[in-house]
Amino acid sequence: MTSRPCLILFGPPGSGKGTQAKLLRESLGMAHISTGDMLRERVASGDELGRQVAAIMKSGALVPDELVNRMVEDRIAQPDAARGFILDGYPRTVAQAELVDSLLRRQGIRAVVVHLKVDYNVVITRLAGRRQCPQCGALYSSGSTSDCAGAALQVCEHDGTRLIVRDDDREEVVVERLKAYDLQTAPVLKYLCGAGYRCYDVKGDEREPRGIAREIQDVMEREFTAGRA
Ligand code: ADP
Repeated sequence: MTSRPCLILFGPPGSGKGTQAKLLRESLGMAHISTGDMLRERVASGDELGRQVAAIMKSGALVPDELVNRMVEDRIAQPDAARGFILDGYPRTVAQAELVDSLLRRQGIRAVVVHLKVDYNVVITRLAGRRQCPQCGALYSSGSTSDCAGAALQVCEHDGTRLIVRDDDREEVVVERLKAYDLQTAPVLKYLCGAGYRCYDVKGDEREPRGIAREIQDVMEREFTAGRA
């Protein structure tokens, strides 16, 4: 692949962006940039900003653009992102898309958008069955489409900590997250396609994660092999 490719993983909550990003960062050798994970780290720090972010995330709403944009700009400048990076959960509003578009253009980075298409009923079932380790953050899903062990598991495989339901995976919060997706995030896809990014739809609910990752990897190889970029 040519230098510094960017993959924008797009899709509703629970579409498997995080699972795919974790599989692809190994096979593509790219950094994984998850705004959700970065925000949860901020919450874990327990400072005043962390407390404000926690309240927003708990409600299912989006965190303000300025904060997220600043985080991403700093993160992209880290050395591990020099070989290319996967954006997971970002951009999520048109204002975020405008910032990332200007950042990428300025730095001459070419990005491809992969839209993970998943039925909302599948999303609700997946998130309702999901458990998380409060210690290391590992996610365990009950759906057959998950890469992780079954939800029957009570404790984390890595550190033995008792698993919990993530605050924002409760059904009433999932409904709010899907509303935010429809209103604020869905228009981002139109914006990116309109701005000239190549956008691919990939079905995210009919195969196991490794099959989906292979399809995305094929897209990346096609897009970024010498001669194309
Ligand atoms: P999911 O994609 O399944 O919703 P994430 O871990 O990506 O899970 O996001 C969890 C929450 O973190 C979101 O509901 C939102 O409150 C916040 N968040 C994550 N990324 C962004 C972003 N780019 N802009 C604003 N808020 C964000």
